[in-house]
Amino acid sequence: MENGSASRKDDLIVITGAGGFIGGNLVKYFRDKGFTRIRAVDKKPLDDWYLCVPGVENLRLDCSEEELCKRACDGAVEVYNLAADMGGMGFIERFRVECLRSILINTHMIEAAYQAGARRYFFSSSACAYNTLLQQDPKVRALKESDAYPAMAERGYGWEKLLSEMFCQEYWAERQLKTFIARFHNVYGPHGTWDGGREKAPAAICRKVVEAVDTGEHTIEIWGDGHQTRSFMYIADCVQGIDMITHCDELIATPINLGSSELVTINELVDKVEAIAGVRLERRHDPIAPRGVAGRNSDNTFIKTVLDWEPSTTLERGLRETYEWIRDQYYSRKKGHRVLA
Ligand code: NAD
Repeated sequence: MENGSASRKDDLIVITGAGGFIGGNLVKYFRDKGFTRIRAVDKKPLDDWYLCVPGVENLRLDCSEEELCKRACDGAVEVYNLAADMGGMGFIERFRVECLRSILINTHMIEAAYQAGARRYFFSSSACAYNTLLQQDPKVRALKESDAYPAMAERGYGWEKLLSEMFCQEYWAERQLKTFIARFHNVYGPHGTWDGGREKAPAAICRKVVEAVDTGEHTIEIWGDGHQTRSFMYIADCVQGIDMITHCDELIATPINLGSSELVTINELVDKVEAIAGVRLERRHDPIAPRGVAGRNSDNTFIKTVLDWEPSTTLERGLRETYEWIRDQYYSRKKGHRVLA
């Protein structure tokens, strides 16, 4: 049994979705840890990747194509599949077909990883895989891993995650590929989407506050009544958690929450960003905008038991970093520089 950070520093690590938020930060995390052979894969043109980490092999491949997944996984020792067609609530409620089609990515990636003889395979699942009937009250009971079944996942996006989790479990059961499955709860931080429709609540709120400060128009639009509750995990905790989960053999084929348990309402999230920016804005609530489930939090009992660890960056600290990064992006764009939103 290999536990801990088992890989040799020259083992080939493949990360898909590397042009996106979490994948890009994961590439940087492993590179900073001294891994010398990292293959970063995404279907976007390289110019559109949030992070291009020096010393990494960057490949532009569409991982919903079987043959291209074989290319992506060739020689891989560990595979981290972070590629998915996804976005915040506005995206996943509107584009369910795109979300469901991400099933192709995991289906071909896991087979290609298996064929390549990879030792470990990580899949990024989501809290959207949980039964939505348990999330109808803002005063939620935090979700524990067993709450995914009986299944009533988020339409489209959540069902794709649940079925892809099952692929991971059966590849272990039938073919002995060591698979690892983390259910992320809202991840935020620098180097991610912050404008254009795919951004999530923390980035959207930071951008709206930056805009309000810049334009002097001191109002902010909030989706729903703002009483919906969520927890938000800072990106540094997320990438560390992925590493710990993937190198813990007790967690093979076992979905586990990877999220913060610091629950806030969306109104409280706005309070925090306003405090960072030093402004108070007039709030305009949009009752018909997408708002997702009423409440959702991560029960971290299991991760604390197995890893003796849980994400611990406070929302206040993580939001400050995120706000400053989005503010810099905003003003760079305003000056006419090319920035990725
Ligand atoms: P992201 O949109 O920033 O990154 C996903 C990347 O996947 C994008 O760069 C996209 O171009 C790429 N991609 C999409 N289809 C592809 C394909 N066919 N082939 C190759 N690349 C493709 O999203 P993210 O926030 O970094 O999310 C990463 C993973 O984590 C996803 O699986 C997502 O569902 C999951 N997740 C994220 C969150 C969150 O809060 N960010 C929460 C739960 C789960």
